[in-house]
Amino acid sequence: MRFTIAIDGPAAAGKGTISKAVAWHFGFAHLDTGLLYRAVGAKVLAGAGPVAAARGLTSEDINGDLRSPDVADAASRVAVIPEVRAALVDFQRDFANRDGGAVLDGRDIGTVICPDADVKLYVTASAKVRAERRFLELEAKGTDLTRAEVLSDVVARDKRDAERDEAPMRAAGDAVTLDTSGMSIGDAVAAAINHVKLARHVG
Ligand code: C5P
Repeated sequence: MRFTIAIDGPAAAGKGTISKAVAWHFGFAHLDTGLLYRAVGAKVLAGAGPVAAARGLTSEDINGDLRSPDVADAASRVAVIPEVRAALVDFQRDFANRDGGAVLDGRDIGTVICPDADVKLYVTASAKVRAERRFLELEAKGTDLTRAEVLSDVVARDKRDAERDEAPMRAAGDAVTLDTSGMSIGDAVAAAINHVKLARHVG
């Protein structure tokens, strides 16, 4: 059985949590494609060339701690390079086509990686709400960043992701948008699962 769910959206909109919960609910595999770009970004911060880093990526590279703001920033800088994106396409498509169902989350899953996905969701929230969520996450880990700095990082990264020429972040024409600004994470997960259930009945 093949069934692909594409979940896109800006930073800290809740797509990671939603994707994991949806995958768990349906027993599907989950790939956080942001980790691929973060792993390339981390290698570049360590001195590698971006294209060579993307071409040589191994599963070990995506297992480290890649959650820091510096790595996120480096990820969005390497993500504008067409050769970096091209090097990561086959891995993502193979994952999407695996037997047993797959959930992929990122920025270009519904538009470029899996344009024929069975379900496409675009998960978003206001920049202020997203920055607050990211700030609380970082604060729990002990950050020196202020709320204002986290907001400006989030806005700068979204702008870079949305305005790049290659595979810019945007909702696919046939994606359903889920704005989680005023929702608890539980409600957002429930809404996403309901949407997938509906699509599976119709499809
Ligand atoms: O989702 P996450 O915040 O981990 O992604 C880090 C960065 O990787 C994004 O800001 C974006 O530049 C890039 N990315 C991308 N395409 C994807 C997933 C992530 O360009 N499918």
